[in-house]
Amino acid sequence: MFRILFICSIGFILTSCNAQKSTSDVSQMKTIESTISAAKIDTALARIPVGEITKIEKSESEWKSLLTDQEYYVIREKGTERAFTGDLLKNKQSGTYICAACQLPLFESDTKFKSGTGWPSFYGPLVDKVIIEDADYAYGMKRVEVLCARCDGHLGHVFEDGPKPTGLRYCINAVSLDFMPAKVDKP
Ligand SMILES: [Zn+2]
Repeated sequence: MFRILFICSIGFILTSCNAQKSTSDVSQMKTIESTISAAKIDTALARIPVGEITKIEKSESEWKSLLTDQEYYVIREKGTERAFTGDLLKNKQSGTYICAACQLPLFESDTKFKSGTGWPSFYGPLVDKVIIEDADYAYGMKRVEVLCARCDGHLGHVFEDGPKPTGLRYCINAVSLDFMPAKVDKP
């Protein structure tokens, strides 16, 4: 607790915060680390399994019974929600975006940006291991699909026209995400 309070008190001096971290998960953070509140990262990472992520495997009939029709279409059938219809598109709350199918934490609100595309956009995942990438040649285009690393659910695609610090744009269906507001968000 002391460490968290200490970090909060110097929240804008992020480079010194980085030196405070010690868990193996934190060491996996990429360049986005320096731009996200260290206290928020600690909170979100606490919900990510340590080490390798164990797959959740269910039959399609099981998924169908667990998901709404729209969720099943997007997450299991790799569909795309209509642009500008997602309930989380304009969400500006501080918190963590999790997989709608298996609740794995995927993105931090600090990495969300307004892309103008009509889908929630992030410049990087919470940590690399929560996302899987796969080549997608559908519709005569070569794109990179992004999936949840735990349930293999379809999330969206990643493009190389995002903002700093990664230059990436994770274009994600809001249907594939749920949102967990930050519990403690003190300055
Ligand atoms: Zn998932």
